[in-house]
Amino acid sequence: MFVSRVPLAALLIASSAAAAPGRRVTVDVPPVATPAGPLSHTIVLERCTGNCTVTNGGTNAIGMMSSIPQGTGPFTIREFKDSMGQTGVAADAEWNAIVTCVREVYSPFDVTVTDTRPVGGTTYHLAIVAGVPQEAGLPADILGIAPLAGDCSAQDNVISFSFANTHPTTSRVLNICWTVAQESAHAFGLDHEFMFFDGKSSCSDPMTYRMDCGGQRFFRNKGAQCGEFAAKPACKCTPSQNSHAKLLEVFGPGTPITPPPTSVITFPQPDATALGASVGARAGSQRGITKVELLINGFVWATVPGAAIGGNGQPNPGDYQISVPASVPKSIVDLVVRATDDLGTSTDSAQITVTNGAPCTDASVCAEFQNCENGRCLWDPPIGELGDECKYTEFCKSNLCVDTSAGKLCSEPCEPGSDSCPMDLACVQASPGAGVCLPKGDAGCCETGTGGASPWIHGGFAALVIGLVGRRRRSGSRMVGRCQRSSPGA
Ligand SMILES: [Zn+2]
Repeated sequence: MFVSRVPLAALLIASSAAAAPGRRVTVDVPPVATPAGPLSHTIVLERCTGNCTVTNGGTNAIGMMSSIPQGTGPFTIREFKDSMGQTGVAADAEWNAIVTCVREVYSPFDVTVTDTRPVGGTTYHLAIVAGVPQEAGLPADILGIAPLAGDCSAQDNVISFSFANTHPTTSRVLNICWTVAQESAHAFGLDHEFMFFDGKSSCSDPMTYRMDCGGQRFFRNKGAQCGEFAAKPACKCTPSQNSHAKLLEVFGPGTPITPPPTSVITFPQPDATALGASVGARAGSQRGITKVELLINGFVWATVPGAAIGGNGQPNPGDYQISVPASVPKSIVDLVVRATDDLGTSTDSAQITVTNGAPCTDASVCAEFQNCENGRCLWDPPIGELGDECKYTEFCKSNLCVDTSAGKLCSEPCEPGSDSCPMDLACVQASPGAGVCLPKGDAGCCETGTGGASPWIHGGFAALVIGLVGRRRRSGSRMVGRCQRSSPGA
Protein backbone atom coordinates (compact mmCIF):
# COMPACT_ATOMS: atom_id res chain seq x y z
CA MET A 1 0.00 0.00 0.00
CA PHE A 2 1.39 3.37 -0.89
CA VAL A 3 1.41 6.05 1.72
CA SER A 4 0.43 9.61 1.06
CA ARG A 5 2.86 12.03 -0.44
CA VAL A 6 5.34 13.84 1.77
CA PRO A 7 3.83 17.23 2.67
CA LEU A 8 5.93 20.09 1.42
CA ALA A 9 6.16 21.56 4.90
CA ALA A 10 7.92 18.47 6.08
CA LEU A 11 10.54 18.97 3.43
CA LEU A 12 11.17 22.59 4.12
CA ILE A 13 12.25 22.07 7.69
CA ALA A 14 14.92 19.64 6.64
CA SER A 15 18.48 20.84 6.68
CA SER A 16 20.33 20.58 3.44
CA ALA A 17 22.36 17.72 4.83
CA ALA A 18 19.26 15.73 5.60
CA ALA A 19 17.12 16.65 2.64
CA ALA A 20 15.78 13.70 0.73
CA PRO A 21 12.36 14.48 -0.64
CA GLY A 22 10.46 11.50 -1.82
CA ARG A 23 8.95 8.38 -0.38
CA ARG A 24 10.42 5.27 1.11
CA VAL A 25 7.43 2.99 1.08
CA THR A 26 6.44 -0.54 1.82
CA VAL A 27 4.30 -3.00 -0.03
CA ASP A 28 2.13 -5.20 2.15
CA VAL A 29 2.66 -8.84 1.43
CA PRO A 30 1.02 -11.86 3.05
CA PRO A 31 2.44 -13.29 6.26
CA VAL A 32 5.42 -15.51 5.77
CA ALA A 33 4.46 -19.18 5.49
CA THR A 34 4.73 -21.06 8.75
CA PRO A 35 7.11 -22.50 9.55
CA ALA A 36 9.33 -20.00 7.84
CA GLY A 37 12.43 -21.43 6.26
CA PRO A 38 15.89 -20.41 7.40
CA LEU A 39 16.66 -16.76 6.95
CA SER A 40 19.86 -15.83 5.19
CA HIS A 41 22.11 -13.47 7.15
CA THR A 42 23.51 -11.96 3.97
CA ILE A 43 22.44 -8.67 2.44
CA VAL A 44 23.70 -8.18 -1.08
CA LEU A 45 23.87 -4.62 -2.39
CA GLU A 46 23.36 -4.79 -6.15
CA ARG A 47 24.59 -1.85 -8.24
CA CYS A 48 23.31 -3.44 -11.43
CA THR A 49 26.49 -3.22 -13.44
CA GLY A 50 25.42 -3.29 -17.09
CA ASN A 51 21.79 -2.87 -15.84
CA CYS A 52 19.56 -5.39 -14.05
CA THR A 53 16.55 -7.18 -15.42
CA VAL A 54 13.75 -7.88 -12.98
CA THR A 55 10.59 -9.83 -13.75
CA ASN A 56 7.37 -9.76 -11.77
CA GLY A 57 6.26 -13.32 -12.11
CA GLY A 58 6.99 -14.20 -8.49
CA THR A 59 9.25 -13.44 -5.56
CA ASN A 60 12.78 -14.74 -5.74
CA ALA A 61 15.89 -12.62 -5.25
CA ILE A 62 18.23 -15.19 -6.75
CA GLY A 63 16.03 -15.34 -9.84
CA MET A 64 15.59 -11.53 -9.96
CA MET A 65 11.83 -11.83 -9.49
CA SER A 66 9.73 -9.44 -7.46
CA SER A 67 6.05 -8.60 -7.03
CA ILE A 68 6.88 -4.92 -6.57
CA PRO A 69 7.39 -3.60 -10.13
CA GLN A 70 4.11 -2.50 -11.68
CA GLY A 71 3.13 -3.28 -15.24
CA THR A 72 4.32 -5.82 -17.72
CA GLY A 73 7.92 -6.84 -17.35
CA PRO A 74 10.67 -7.49 -17.76
CA PHE A 75 11.93 -4.30 -16.15
CA THR A 76 15.35 -2.87 -16.82
CA ILE A 77 16.86 -1.15 -13.79
CA ARG A 78 19.76 0.99 -14.85
CA GLU A 79 23.18 0.80 -13.29
CA PHE A 80 24.06 2.81 -10.17
CA LYS A 81 25.24 6.31 -10.97
CA ASP A 82 27.23 8.48 -8.59
CA SER A 83 26.33 12.09 -7.85
CA MET A 84 28.26 13.15 -10.96
CA GLY A 85 26.15 10.81 -13.09
CA GLN A 86 29.07 8.46 -13.63
CA THR A 87 28.84 4.68 -13.78
CA GLY A 88 31.37 1.86 -13.62
CA VAL A 89 34.80 2.37 -12.13
CA ALA A 90 34.31 6.13 -12.04
CA ALA A 91 31.47 5.59 -9.57
CA ASP A 92 33.40 3.15 -7.37
CA ALA A 93 34.32 5.66 -4.68
CA GLU A 94 30.75 6.66 -3.97
CA TRP A 95 29.52 3.09 -4.27
CA ASN A 96 32.11 1.85 -1.80
CA ALA A 97 31.16 4.61 0.62
CA ILE A 98 27.55 3.44 0.48
CA VAL A 99 28.56 -0.17 1.08
CA THR A 100 30.66 0.90 4.06
CA CYS A 101 27.81 2.96 5.48
CA VAL A 102 25.28 0.12 5.21
CA ARG A 103 27.83 -2.28 6.69
CA GLU A 104 28.32 0.06 9.66
CA VAL A 105 24.60 0.46 10.21
CA TYR A 106 24.01 -3.31 10.21
CA SER A 107 27.21 -4.18 12.10
CA PRO A 108 25.58 -4.61 15.55
CA PHE A 109 23.78 -7.63 14.09
CA ASP A 110 24.93 -10.99 12.80
CA VAL A 111 24.59 -9.92 9.19
CA THR A 112 27.03 -9.81 6.29
CA VAL A 113 26.67 -6.85 3.96
CA THR A 114 28.41 -7.41 0.64
CA ASP A 115 28.18 -6.37 -2.98
CA THR A 116 29.08 -9.83 -4.23
CA ARG A 117 26.32 -12.39 -4.57
CA PRO A 118 26.85 -15.79 -2.96
CA VAL A 119 26.89 -18.65 -5.42
CA GLY A 120 25.54 -22.17 -5.40
CA GLY A 121 21.91 -21.45 -4.57
CA THR A 122 22.60 -19.83 -1.19
CA THR A 123 19.81 -17.35 -0.51
CA TYR A 124 20.25 -13.72 0.49
CA HIS A 125 18.38 -10.45 0.72
CA LEU A 126 18.94 -8.50 -2.48
CA ALA A 127 19.00 -4.74 -2.05
CA ILE A 128 18.95 -3.21 -5.52
CA VAL A 129 20.70 0.15 -5.24
CA ALA A 130 20.31 1.55 -8.74
CA GLY A 131 17.91 2.99 -11.23
CA VAL A 132 14.89 5.25 -10.93
CA PRO A 133 11.37 4.22 -9.87
CA GLN A 134 9.86 4.68 -13.33
CA GLU A 135 12.03 1.82 -14.54
CA ALA A 136 9.98 -0.41 -12.22
CA GLY A 137 6.69 1.14 -13.28
CA LEU A 138 6.47 3.20 -10.07
CA PRO A 139 5.74 6.90 -9.44
CA ALA A 140 8.68 9.28 -9.78
CA ASP A 141 8.74 10.29 -6.11
CA ILE A 142 9.45 6.80 -4.79
CA LEU A 143 12.97 6.66 -3.39
CA GLY A 144 12.67 3.10 -2.20
CA ILE A 145 10.18 0.31 -1.81
CA ALA A 146 10.15 -3.07 -0.15
CA PRO A 147 7.78 -5.83 0.92
CA LEU A 148 6.65 -5.93 4.56
CA ALA A 149 5.07 -9.18 5.68
CA GLY A 150 1.59 -9.02 7.18
CA ASP A 151 2.85 -10.60 10.39
CA CYS A 152 6.11 -8.59 10.35
CA SER A 153 8.19 -11.71 10.09
CA ALA A 154 11.47 -11.65 8.21
CA GLN A 155 11.33 -12.70 4.57
CA ASP A 156 14.13 -14.56 2.92
CA ASN A 157 15.21 -14.30 -0.71
CA VAL A 158 13.28 -11.14 -1.55
CA ILE A 159 14.29 -7.91 -3.29
CA SER A 160 14.15 -4.41 -1.85
CA PHE A 161 14.55 -1.44 -4.16
CA SER A 162 16.52 1.70 -3.37
CA PHE A 163 16.38 3.89 -6.44
CA ALA A 164 19.82 5.40 -6.11
CA ASN A 165 19.70 7.33 -9.36
CA THR A 166 16.75 9.43 -8.21
CA HIS A 167 18.36 10.47 -4.92
CA PRO A 168 19.41 14.10 -4.55
CA THR A 169 23.10 14.89 -4.88
CA THR A 170 23.26 16.54 -1.47
CA SER A 171 24.60 14.22 1.20
CA ARG A 172 23.94 11.46 -1.28
CA VAL A 173 25.86 8.64 0.36
CA LEU A 174 24.04 9.09 3.67
CA ASN A 175 20.70 9.50 1.97
CA ILE A 176 21.06 6.35 -0.09
CA CYS A 177 22.39 4.50 2.96
CA TRP A 178 19.27 5.58 4.87
CA THR A 179 17.02 4.27 2.08
CA VAL A 180 18.85 0.96 1.76
CA ALA A 181 18.78 0.40 5.53
CA GLN A 182 15.08 1.18 5.71
CA GLU A 183 14.00 -0.84 2.69
CA SER A 184 16.01 -3.93 3.58
CA ALA A 185 14.74 -3.73 7.17
CA HIS A 186 11.13 -3.66 5.93
CA ALA A 187 11.83 -7.06 4.43
CA PHE A 188 12.98 -8.16 7.89
CA GLY A 189 9.68 -7.01 9.43
CA LEU A 190 10.33 -3.44 10.59
CA ASP A 191 7.77 -0.65 10.39
CA HIS A 192 8.33 3.12 10.18
CA GLU A 193 9.12 4.94 13.44
CA PHE A 194 7.90 8.42 14.27
CA MET A 195 8.85 9.30 17.83
CA PHE A 196 10.90 7.75 20.61
CA PHE A 197 9.30 7.24 24.02
CA ASP A 198 11.30 10.13 25.42
CA GLY A 199 9.47 12.43 23.01
CA LYS A 200 12.43 12.89 20.68
CA SER A 201 12.06 12.61 16.94
CA SER A 202 13.05 9.26 15.44
CA CYS A 203 15.00 11.18 12.79
CA SER A 204 18.27 9.50 13.84
CA ASP A 205 16.97 6.02 12.94
CA PRO A 206 16.77 4.80 9.33
CA MET A 207 13.19 3.59 9.89
CA THR A 208 12.01 7.18 9.88
CA TYR A 209 10.47 9.51 7.32
CA ARG A 210 11.53 12.47 9.43
CA MET A 211 14.16 14.96 8.41
CA ASP A 212 14.45 17.20 11.46
CA CYS A 213 17.92 15.77 11.95
CA GLY A 214 20.44 14.10 9.72
CA GLY A 215 23.82 12.48 9.62
CA GLN A 216 24.26 8.73 9.52
CA ARG A 217 21.13 7.00 10.77
CA PHE A 218 21.53 3.92 12.96
CA PHE A 219 18.99 1.38 14.19
CA ARG A 220 18.46 2.80 17.68
CA ASN A 221 18.13 0.87 20.85
CA LYS A 222 15.15 3.00 21.85
CA GLY A 223 11.48 2.21 21.94
CA ALA A 224 9.45 4.22 19.46
CA GLN A 225 5.91 4.90 18.40
CA CYS A 226 5.42 4.04 14.76
CA GLY A 227 4.14 6.33 12.05
CA GLU A 228 5.13 8.20 8.93
CA PHE A 229 3.92 11.78 9.47
CA ALA A 230 2.37 11.39 12.93
CA ALA A 231 2.45 8.84 15.69
CA LYS A 232 0.08 5.95 15.05
CA PRO A 233 -1.74 4.15 17.87
CA ALA A 234 0.41 1.09 17.25
CA CYS A 235 3.00 -0.35 14.94
CA LYS A 236 1.92 -2.81 12.27
CA CYS A 237 2.33 -5.88 14.47
CA THR A 238 3.32 -4.64 17.93
CA PRO A 239 2.36 -1.70 20.15
CA SER A 240 5.76 -0.08 19.64
CA GLN A 241 9.08 -0.80 17.99
CA ASN A 242 12.72 -0.79 18.99
CA SER A 243 14.50 -1.23 15.68
CA HIS A 244 17.75 -2.42 17.29
CA ALA A 245 15.97 -4.96 19.47
CA LYS A 246 13.88 -6.21 16.57
CA LEU A 247 16.91 -6.80 14.34
CA LEU A 248 18.71 -8.43 17.24
CA GLU A 249 15.78 -10.80 17.53
CA VAL A 250 15.91 -11.56 13.81
CA PHE A 251 19.67 -11.99 13.39
CA GLY A 252 21.35 -12.13 16.77
CA PRO A 253 24.24 -9.91 17.77
CA GLY A 254 27.20 -8.87 15.64
CA THR A 255 30.20 -6.73 16.41
CA PRO A 256 29.80 -3.01 15.73
CA ILE A 257 32.48 -1.75 13.35
CA THR A 258 31.89 1.87 14.25
CA PRO A 259 34.36 2.94 16.94
CA PRO A 260 33.31 3.07 20.59
CA PRO A 261 32.77 6.49 22.20
CA THR A 262 35.69 8.73 23.04
CA SER A 263 35.96 10.81 26.21
CA VAL A 264 38.58 13.31 27.39
CA ILE A 265 38.38 15.60 30.42
CA THR A 266 39.12 19.18 29.35
CA PHE A 267 38.95 20.83 32.77
CA PRO A 268 39.91 21.05 35.59
CA GLN A 269 43.58 20.38 35.02
CA PRO A 270 45.14 17.33 36.67
CA ASP A 271 46.36 17.99 40.20
CA ALA A 272 44.28 21.15 40.50
CA THR A 273 43.68 22.24 44.07
CA ALA A 274 40.03 23.09 43.60
CA LEU A 275 37.05 21.46 41.99
CA GLY A 276 35.02 24.13 40.25
CA ALA A 277 31.31 24.28 39.60
CA SER A 278 31.62 22.00 36.59
CA VAL A 279 33.80 19.47 34.86
CA GLY A 280 34.37 19.75 31.12
CA ALA A 281 34.77 16.94 28.65
CA ARG A 282 34.98 16.30 24.94
CA ALA A 283 33.08 13.18 24.05
CA GLY A 284 31.31 11.56 21.15
CA SER A 285 31.12 8.67 18.74
CA GLN A 286 30.17 8.00 15.15
CA ARG A 287 26.75 6.66 16.13
CA GLY A 288 26.35 9.31 18.82
CA ILE A 289 26.29 9.13 22.58
CA THR A 290 23.24 9.13 24.80
CA LYS A 291 24.81 10.24 28.06
CA VAL A 292 27.94 11.58 29.68
CA GLU A 293 28.55 10.77 33.34
CA LEU A 294 30.85 12.25 35.92
CA LEU A 295 32.41 9.66 38.18
CA ILE A 296 34.01 10.78 41.41
CA ASN A 297 36.12 8.22 43.22
CA GLY A 298 34.51 5.52 41.12
CA PHE A 299 30.86 6.49 41.62
CA VAL A 300 28.51 8.32 39.28
CA TRP A 301 27.66 11.75 40.68
CA ALA A 302 26.16 13.54 37.71
CA THR A 303 24.80 12.74 34.26
CA VAL A 304 24.06 14.89 31.24
CA PRO A 305 22.32 13.67 28.08
CA GLY A 306 24.12 13.41 24.77
CA ALA A 307 23.98 16.57 22.65
CA ALA A 308 21.04 17.16 20.35
CA ILE A 309 21.29 15.50 16.95
CA GLY A 310 21.37 18.16 14.27
CA GLY A 311 21.32 18.27 10.51
CA ASN A 312 24.70 16.58 10.32
CA GLY A 313 24.21 14.24 13.25
CA GLN A 314 25.58 14.77 16.73
CA PRO A 315 28.84 16.69 17.21
CA ASN A 316 31.68 14.16 17.34
CA PRO A 317 33.31 14.98 19.55
CA GLY A 318 31.14 17.52 21.31
CA ASP A 319 31.89 19.67 24.32
CA TYR A 320 30.10 18.83 27.53
CA GLN A 321 29.93 20.61 30.82
CA ILE A 322 28.81 18.60 33.81
CA SER A 323 27.75 20.49 36.91
CA VAL A 324 29.40 19.26 40.07
CA PRO A 325 26.75 18.67 42.74
CA ALA A 326 27.16 20.91 45.75
CA SER A 327 27.03 17.83 47.93
CA VAL A 328 30.36 16.48 46.69
CA PRO A 329 32.44 16.21 49.87
CA LYS A 330 35.67 18.03 50.43
CA SER A 331 38.29 15.40 49.77
CA ILE A 332 40.68 14.22 47.15
CA VAL A 333 38.65 13.36 44.06
CA ASP A 334 39.59 11.05 41.24
CA LEU A 335 37.57 12.25 38.24
CA VAL A 336 36.52 10.17 35.27
CA VAL A 337 34.04 11.12 32.55
CA ARG A 338 32.21 8.19 30.95
CA ALA A 339 30.52 8.47 27.54
CA THR A 340 27.89 5.86 26.63
CA ASP A 341 26.00 5.18 23.40
CA ASP A 342 22.49 3.80 22.86
CA LEU A 343 23.85 0.26 22.71
CA GLY A 344 25.33 0.64 26.20
CA THR A 345 28.91 0.76 24.96
CA SER A 346 30.88 3.15 27.12
CA THR A 347 34.34 4.63 27.28
CA ASP A 348 36.00 6.16 30.34
CA SER A 349 38.29 9.16 30.07
CA ALA A 350 41.74 9.03 31.56
CA GLN A 351 41.42 9.69 35.28
CA ILE A 352 42.58 12.96 36.76
CA THR A 353 43.02 13.69 40.43
CA VAL A 354 42.01 16.97 42.02
CA THR A 355 42.05 18.07 45.62
CA ASN A 356 38.63 19.46 46.39
CA GLY A 357 39.47 21.64 49.37
CA ALA A 358 41.49 19.22 51.43
CA PRO A 359 41.88 15.47 51.80
CA CYS A 360 39.34 14.01 54.18
CA THR A 361 40.72 12.74 57.45
CA ASP A 362 37.62 10.95 58.64
CA ALA A 363 34.11 10.19 57.40
CA SER A 364 32.52 13.17 59.13
CA VAL A 365 33.04 15.37 56.08
CA CYS A 366 31.91 12.66 53.68
CA ALA A 367 28.45 11.95 52.27
CA GLU A 368 26.05 9.63 54.01
CA PHE A 369 27.29 6.03 54.15
CA GLN A 370 30.72 7.00 52.80
CA ASN A 371 34.06 6.20 54.33
CA CYS A 372 37.25 8.24 54.19
CA GLU A 373 40.16 6.32 52.70
CA ASN A 374 43.47 7.78 51.58
CA GLY A 375 41.99 11.27 51.77
CA ARG A 376 39.08 10.27 49.54
CA CYS A 377 35.40 9.98 50.41
CA LEU A 378 33.91 6.88 48.88
CA TRP A 379 31.34 4.19 49.35
CA ASP A 380 32.01 0.48 49.71
CA PRO A 381 31.87 -1.36 46.40
CA PRO A 382 28.22 -2.03 45.46
CA ILE A 383 26.85 -5.45 46.43
CA GLY A 384 23.06 -4.95 46.19
CA GLU A 385 21.34 -7.21 43.68
CA LEU A 386 18.02 -6.52 42.00
CA GLY A 387 15.32 -6.57 44.70
CA ASP A 388 17.69 -6.24 47.67
CA GLU A 389 16.83 -3.69 50.30
CA CYS A 390 18.97 -0.61 49.96
CA LYS A 391 19.60 2.47 52.00
CA TYR A 392 21.44 4.40 49.33
CA THR A 393 21.96 4.35 45.57
CA GLU A 394 25.58 3.30 45.56
CA PHE A 395 24.81 0.11 47.49
CA CYS A 396 23.08 -1.27 44.40
CA LYS A 397 25.10 -2.76 41.57
CA SER A 398 22.58 -1.12 39.25
CA ASN A 399 23.21 2.23 40.94
CA LEU A 400 19.44 2.53 41.34
CA CYS A 401 17.69 2.39 44.73
CA VAL A 402 13.99 3.20 44.50
CA ASP A 403 11.51 4.11 47.16
CA THR A 404 8.51 1.82 46.98
CA SER A 405 5.59 1.04 49.23
CA ALA A 406 7.62 -1.93 50.40
CA GLY A 407 10.61 0.13 51.30
CA LYS A 408 13.73 0.95 49.36
CA LEU A 409 14.85 -1.70 46.94
CA CYS A 410 17.57 -2.02 44.34
CA SER A 411 15.97 -1.78 40.93
CA GLU A 412 17.12 -1.51 37.35
CA PRO A 413 16.49 1.20 34.80
CA CYS A 414 14.25 0.21 31.92
CA GLU A 415 12.37 1.67 29.01
CA PRO A 416 8.63 2.12 29.52
CA GLY A 417 6.59 0.21 26.99
CA SER A 418 9.37 -2.26 26.36
CA ASP A 419 9.95 -5.72 27.69
CA SER A 420 13.32 -4.83 29.11
CA CYS A 421 12.84 -5.96 32.73
CA PRO A 422 13.77 -9.40 34.00
CA MET A 423 11.07 -11.99 34.60
CA ASP A 424 8.27 -11.06 37.04
CA LEU A 425 9.12 -7.40 36.77
CA ALA A 426 7.49 -4.69 34.74
CA CYS A 427 8.79 -1.32 33.69
CA VAL A 428 7.07 1.54 35.48
CA GLN A 429 7.59 5.00 34.11
CA ALA A 430 9.56 7.33 36.36
CA SER A 431 10.05 10.14 33.84
CA PRO A 432 9.41 10.47 30.08
CA GLY A 433 11.20 7.63 28.34
CA ALA A 434 12.74 6.31 31.55
CA GLY A 435 11.42 3.79 33.99
CA VAL A 436 12.36 1.40 36.76
CA CYS A 437 11.73 -2.31 36.99
CA LEU A 438 9.14 -3.26 39.60
CA PRO A 439 7.11 -6.41 40.28
CA LYS A 440 4.05 -6.84 38.11
CA GLY A 441 0.73 -8.21 39.19
CA ASP A 442 1.21 -7.59 42.88
CA ALA A 443 -2.05 -6.88 44.64
CA GLY A 444 -2.50 -5.01 47.86
CA CYS A 445 -0.04 -3.32 50.03
CA CYS A 446 2.05 -4.61 52.82
CA GLU A 447 1.21 -8.27 52.63
CA THR A 448 3.50 -10.46 54.60
CA GLY A 449 5.95 -12.44 52.60
CA THR A 450 5.53 -16.15 53.04
CA GLY A 451 7.97 -18.96 53.38
CA GLY A 452 10.90 -16.60 53.42
CA ALA A 453 10.12 -15.57 49.88
CA SER A 454 11.66 -12.37 48.72
CA PRO A 455 9.73 -9.25 49.66
CA TRP A 456 10.39 -8.24 46.09
CA ILE A 457 7.84 -10.80 45.00
CA HIS A 458 5.36 -10.56 47.82
CA GLY A 459 5.78 -7.10 49.15
CA GLY A 460 2.78 -5.63 47.42
CA PHE A 461 3.23 -2.71 45.09
CA ALA A 462 -0.31 -1.88 44.12
CA ALA A 463 -0.10 1.58 45.57
CA LEU A 464 3.35 2.46 44.46
CA VAL A 465 5.21 5.44 45.60
CA ILE A 466 8.21 5.51 43.40
CA GLY A 467 11.00 7.80 44.17
CA LEU A 468 14.59 7.63 43.15
CA VAL A 469 16.61 7.71 46.29
CA GLY A 470 18.81 10.72 46.13
CA ARG A 471 22.14 11.40 47.73
CA ARG A 472 22.05 13.12 51.02
CA ARG A 473 24.55 14.54 53.33
CA ARG A 474 24.96 12.86 56.64
CA SER A 475 21.95 13.32 58.90
CA GLY A 476 19.73 13.77 55.86
CA SER A 477 16.14 12.76 56.33
CA ARG A 478 15.15 9.31 55.23
CA MET A 479 12.65 8.93 52.40
CA VAL A 480 10.00 6.34 53.06
CA GLY A 481 7.36 4.72 50.94
CA ARG A 482 3.69 5.08 51.60
CA CYS A 483 3.65 1.88 53.59
CA GLN A 484 6.22 -0.44 54.98
CA ARG A 485 6.45 -4.15 54.69
CA SER A 486 4.69 -5.69 57.67
CA SER A 487 7.41 -8.19 58.34
CA PRO A 488 10.76 -6.52 58.10
CA GLY A 489 13.42 -8.93 57.10
CA ALA A 490 11.00 -11.36 55.49
ZN1 LIG B 1 9.72 2.62 4.33
